[in-house]
Amino acid sequence: MCCAVTRTVSSGRKRRLQHDLPRPQRHHTPRKRGGCSNAVRADGQLGQCVVAARPGASVQAGIEHGARLLGCKPVEVIFTSGATEANHLAVRGLLASSAPERQRVVFSSIEHAAHLRLARALAQSGVQVDLIPVLGDGRLDLDAAAALMGPDVALVSLMAANNETGVLMPVAEVGALAHAAGALLHVDATQLIGKLPFHFAGSGADAVSLSAHKFHGPKGIGALLLRQGVPCATQTLGSQERGRRGGTENLPGMVGMATALELLYDIRAEATRQASLRDALEAGLTRALPETHIWCQQVPRLPGTSYLRVGQLSVDVVLQRLERLGVAASSGAACSSGGTTASHVLTAMGVAADDALAAVRFSMGRTTTLDDVNRLLRTLPPLLEPLLREEFLTAP
Ligand code: PLP
Repeated sequence: MCCAVTRTVSSGRKRRLQHDLPRPQRHHTPRKRGGCSNAVRADGQLGQCVVAARPGASVQAGIEHGARLLGCKPVEVIFTSGATEANHLAVRGLLASSAPERQRVVFSSIEHAAHLRLARALAQSGVQVDLIPVLGDGRLDLDAAAALMGPDVALVSLMAANNETGVLMPVAEVGALAHAAGALLHVDATQLIGKLPFHFAGSGADAVSLSAHKFHGPKGIGALLLRQGVPCATQTLGSQERGRRGGTENLPGMVGMATALELLYDIRAEATRQASLRDALEAGLTRALPETHIWCQQVPRLPGTSYLRVGQLSVDVVLQRLERLGVAASSGAACSSGGTTASHVLTAMGVAADDALAAVRFSMGRTTTLDDVNRLLRTLPPLLEPLLREEFLTAP
């Protein structure tokens, strides 16, 4: 099964309603307005900088500015290859630095699939791991979270926004619960940073993971923001990153990430714009195809994310029709060699497998326009309507 569709329309322009997934890699990072001496060239070299073993002064200045934009001190930034590595460093590092009587870890049940693999690996190695459930509307079950706290908890690891539903997690509340129990809070903010305002110092988190390609930066670079003074055992030994993450620094990536952060001007206005496009898409689809069901519509979520099913039309079928229209969207289901499995997020919300296997996710980005949405609303319903009627006639 194809999990995501991206096709160039005849005009040569891609209409991506799939902005939460990685873009096809281009060989450059955004150029700063007004020119930038630090742009990354196709060969991976910095525009006017020789890539040296240590950041030069201008690179350092860019990183310091990037840190300020994230609301942290430069010393609190540990560069990594992306969010997966940052998540591993946070959880394994904070756990290893915790007191022997604090060796339990609490994750949410809807973390990113790779992060849940880490949870399983820890459990298999003998660490006690507990999962916080979610409610039927996609929100975290805060009562269950409170009940899982205790003097043996080393840390809680919680995403800021879910990568499928877009639902925002109660980071401040969980931080307060964790801290009251003497535990730390790690937040995977990969989906939130760039889409909504974020400030590390005011977030209530002790450690935060992020990934540059989620906010139009290059792939293969991310960071763990680690509150100054919080011990976190190094997972990759070496002298770089103040001994906290070994391996030669990815300087082009670091500059690209800092530049991408700088280009994230006016996040609030862009969030409002994307939310209005998302709402127009959802209202239009529901009007044209009343069988449309939208998940998590009534709870706070990322501005550009829409997660829905059209009746129980297979997501394969919907994605194929979208592909014909030159629209990129994605499936909530996971593909594996053993077949297709329902999304673990929808399953955790109590959604039936047949419904979950129909899940389609649209995500708006900075380049999505009202024209894109209107065109989709004109062209998609006529393609799906006959299929829905067929589905109705053949239903048992
Ligand atoms: N965490 C979340 C919430 C994500 O959405 C993703 C990627 O989509 C990741 C982690 C993994 O990020 P990376 O590819 O930078 O390792």
